[in-house]
Amino acid sequence: MGRTYLIKPDLDEDYPVIDYGKGVYLFDVAGKRYLDASSGAVTANIGHGVEEINEAMMEQAKKVSFVYRSQFTSKAAEKLAEKIALTMPGDLNWSFFVNSGSEATETAMKIAIQYWQEKGRPLKTKILSRWVSYHGITIGALSMSGHPARRSRFVPLLADFPVVSPPYCYRCPYNKNPRNCSYECAKELDVAFRRIGPESIAGFIAEPIVGAAGGAITPPKDYYKIIKEICEKHDILFIADEVMTGFGRTGTMLASEHWGIVPDIVSLGKGMGAGYAPIAATLVTERVMEPIRKGSKVIMSGHTLSANPQSSAVALSVLEYLEKNNVIDDVDAKGTYLKNLLEKLKIVFPFIGDVRGMGLLIGIEFVRNPKTKQSFASELNMTEKIVRAAKDVGLLLYPATAGEDGKSGDAIIISPPLIVTKREIEELVSLFKMALTKVKQELE
Ligand code: PLP
Repeated sequence: MGRTYLIKPDLDEDYPVIDYGKGVYLFDVAGKRYLDASSGAVTANIGHGVEEINEAMMEQAKKVSFVYRSQFTSKAAEKLAEKIALTMPGDLNWSFFVNSGSEATETAMKIAIQYWQEKGRPLKTKILSRWVSYHGITIGALSMSGHPARRSRFVPLLADFPVVSPPYCYRCPYNKNPRNCSYECAKELDVAFRRIGPESIAGFIAEPIVGAAGGAITPPKDYYKIIKEICEKHDILFIADEVMTGFGRTGTMLASEHWGIVPDIVSLGKGMGAGYAPIAATLVTERVMEPIRKGSKVIMSGHTLSANPQSSAVALSVLEYLEKNNVIDDVDAKGTYLKNLLEKLKIVFPFIGDVRGMGLLIGIEFVRNPKTKQSFASELNMTEKIVRAAKDVGLLLYPATAGEDGKSGDAIIISPPLIVTKREIEELVSLFKMALTKVKQELE
């Protein structure tokens, strides 16, 4: 007997076998249709079954599918790097292609450390991060992740990189609200740098909008401006983990653009291949690449399938698709429409505590008491209940953790493909209502 081992040892009715996908829908072998309101894991940004991506893949396959990165580059990878440099803000001109978001953040970490080595400051090796964050599943990426639930099993192997609070306005650690916010959580970084010693710190990594660890936690307006200034003041590189937010998810190519900052290093993944091929990237500015190019030249990272021509051709055609169809231009309006419909559900479902996010990256936090913001008891498995109820009615949601400690609360992410239509958004909300009604009845 041979079977894929993905999440559970046994495949059961909760784990259907998918036959095909079209647009925002997936269809299983029993003929059931699912509205993919999560784009898988916030990945299928242009929807399923887009012919021209498949054609681009075929065209590349006819030429060459693999070259080894230490021997050759390829036309596909070079074209992609050129297009990325043109599309991204600032001078993020250097692309280091890998296969997953975890590899992209690990590579970012290594490049930051190498940058300081090449500059003659080899003691700058720590990468600090925030609590309530997720940067990947490999040991280095997990070390950076302030995600208690995913860390717990491996704590003895992990470095203690998370040090500061997230900009979690719904549960502000300083008991402020957006009107009287004085950016204490951003200023915490300055204190942390001084306590730990900037001479030992290479970089600070953050997700512009917190994904899986917090359910689209979105910072107040000036947060990243302050963070970037603090990093610059202490000579510490700022790494934006845009694995989830990049490629238009929030209405701009990078979410960092909303706050007018250009990070020193950026990690990308998910929407880059949009699920059509495994590809991710670490982008580096000219300033950071310069000492490496003038110094040892070789970046001490890389994988057998880095810059794979097949995956590069896919990512290039995804970028061209976004551009040709002006997909990103409409994301903000679609997101606002969806968010307003979701906000209205608070009246019927008082356990919707907070609706947040930007563009088509929307988070909902569920609470037992919306006044006190008290979370549900963890034994209730509220997130799982909601995700399951939604799947039953044919709606896919992305589960997230929430709460001050990043594990005791309940949240989901709603992130349909960016090509979702108004009618499909309305269908999404009506399916979501059906799922929440079922959960509400269970709670009563
Ligand atoms: N960084 C962020 C912000 C993510 O959301 C994820 C995945 O959820 C990763 C990194 C890791 O990416 P991957 O699962 O492709 O390794």
